[in-house]
Amino acid sequence: MIFTKVYRGSLLKYKFTNLIANLLNVSSVPLMLNVIVDNSSRGIAEKIIVEQIRTSNRNMTYSFYNIDYCAKIVNDIVEVMSHFFSKPGSYYSDVLFYISLGLHRIAPKSQKHAILMDCDVFFKRDISLLFDEFQRFKDTALFGLAPELSPVYRHVLKLYRSKHNNTTFGNYYHWNATSDPNIPHSRGFQGYNSGILLLKLDAIRSSEEFKFLLKKSAVQTLTERYNFKQGHLGDQDFYTLIGNEYPHLIQTLNCGFNKQLCTWWKENGYSNIFDNYARCDHKIVVLHGNCNSKIPKS
Ligand code: UDP
Ligand code: MN
Repeated sequence: MIFTKVYRGSLLKYKFTNLIANLLNVSSVPLMLNVIVDNSSRGIAEKIIVEQIRTSNRNMTYSFYNIDYCAKIVNDIVEVMSHFFSKPGSYYSDVLFYISLGLHRIAPKSQKHAILMDCDVFFKRDISLLFDEFQRFKDTALFGLAPELSPVYRHVLKLYRSKHNNTTFGNYYHWNATSDPNIPHSRGFQGYNSGILLLKLDAIRSSEEFKFLLKKSAVQTLTERYNFKQGHLGDQDFYTLIGNEYPHLIQTLNCGFNKQLCTWWKENGYSNIFDNYARCDHKIVVLHGNCNSKIPKS
């Protein structure tokens, strides 16, 4: 998890508290929590974790990584990515939103898998179900992500879609269509949401292809190909483009592993088709209260 820029009474603090309590309560497997923090958030995080372990009578191991230390390690990646996928803003917040792309450098070599999750998620079911998804990865997959459940990429890809009438990129997922094995995402590709991210760290470390894709020239080619100029969602913009262009690198998790609750796009121009994007018929494992949406606990 990433837990930075937290202050007393900040919303993130309550989200983090709920998630720690939730994880201790719902998990059948040993938990090894790694939290990326800044100097002032570390104490807050540790206090919450200790307190939740005490009151739950369950245990987890935990360690902290300093964001400035991480920033140095992933500096080159952030520089490239923020150039293409950020609105002009502070470097510090950029680091936060691109750290997943360099997590394989930050995690110890002995660590082969990681699940990176937002603080605004809630597990309805055992986290082991999510970990089990690694077993289902195709051989070539480096990352696992669930679909974005809003029309944001339909919006961002408007120009590209107007020039490519037959593209499935940005379409909602047609649940009743038959899929064509020769066309990736043939039933519609909504893009990915990075609130839950599975990383096959050892495969990422040894992938020459991924190394190449992180280069400025590669990202430039990719963003130009899709007229992708209005990206603003950080790493998930990159995973979304990769998902369309290099689908072998990403394992699509089903929507039940990241059921987003934000309805912003429904109220902002897409009321007619929003529900097609938000539809999720899979068993729900993780709820994601993105854009500060309230998470129903029952
Ligand atoms: N985050 C953080 N400090 C911040 C903002 C975000 O540590 O000031 C981390 C936190 O883990 C959060 C994640 O970045 O869950 C993504 O932000 P958020 O969940 O608010 O974005 P959304 O899912 O609403 O797009
Ligand atoms: Mn979130």
